[in-house]
Amino acid sequence: MSIANNIHKIKSSLTPQVTLIAVTKTHPINKLQEVYDAGHKIFGENKVQELVDKYAVLPKDIEWHLIGHLQSNKVKYIAPFVSLIHSVDSLKLLQEIDKQAEKNNRIINCLLQIYIAKEETKFGLSFEEAEQLIHCKELEVLKNIKINGFMGMATNTKNNEQISNEFKSLKAFYDQFSNFSTFNFQLSNLSMGMSSDYQLAIEQGSTLIRVGSSIFGQRS
Ligand SMILES: *Cc1c(COP(=O)(O)O)cnc(C)c1O
Repeated sequence: MSIANNIHKIKSSLTPQVTLIAVTKTHPINKLQEVYDAGHKIFGENKVQELVDKYAVLPKDIEWHLIGHLQSNKVKYIAPFVSLIHSVDSLKLLQEIDKQAEKNNRIINCLLQIYIAKEETKFGLSFEEAEQLIHCKELEVLKNIKINGFMGMATNTKNNEQISNEFKSLKAFYDQFSNFSTFNFQLSNLSMGMSSDYQLAIEQGSTLIRVGSSIFGQRS
């Protein structure tokens, strides 16, 4: 199957509530151009340098999402153009995003990354830490960010019930904030699901799926 076929097949299976992010990490520009030529313009990268390099050479109407871990000292490189940062996991990072967004005269949309997997290696906030961040005084002064959702990654396992339960726990947490909003906090995005588990994630209420290998094949 070609990249264009894979994209069309996945998109035609989605309801309008769910948005596909084509995860383009490690793939060369010509493959990204194929995605673009197939009419898809929402791309996700997990490394700042790769995101910046690809942004520079591809058409400017692409919406770029950062989905991987972000260090504060690198925010400045993506602040001029990034559409959504999925991986915010501290107040310090949020403060830096706010500062760089202000310099660029824009508001940057952010998701809080929440830790739902039973694995040591995944980044993210616990539910308790996320709740503290959402209600902390320091957040109230950040005028150039908007928290509009959460992101979570399930455990890398073949146990579908476990994966579904992990996604369900994040959806339940998300629903707790459905009636809570401030000028810089209002939820509308739940980023859950990758190639191996996006169908399970959608069943549990995902609105943003991050899909790489089902579009491009396995990364080498
Ligand atoms: C690589 C990556 C994906 C996509 O993974 P696939 O299994 O190739 O679909 C999704 N989310 C994050 C955070 C990633 O780093």
